[in-house]
Amino acid sequence: MPWFRNHYVCTVCEGHWLAEAAESDAANCPHCRTFDVAPYRSEDFSRVIDRDGTRFVVMQCTKVTKRGPNWRAVKRFDTREAARAFLAGR
Ligand SMILES: [Zn+2]
Repeated sequence: MPWFRNHYVCTVCEGHWLAEAAESDAANCPHCRTFDVAPYRSEDFSRVIDRDGTRFVVMQCTKVTKRGPNWRAVKRFDTREAARAFLAGR
């Protein structure tokens, strides 16, 4: 499942905010309530690297519920570089 971190800047009040969502959707400004502000940037957070003690775990978003994304551990690595290389290789 895709999962995004969206970056917004409101042209009315120049407020900035971040929101994580299943789509790179327009949102309402939390500062001045302007409707339908489009994100200027969306980062793909469908797969991320997490820490597990001294190891690094590649996590994948498997589904999105009302409570947010569900994550599944894909593979564990000894170094962050190895985890990054795994992500870049797909
Ligand atoms: Zn605003």
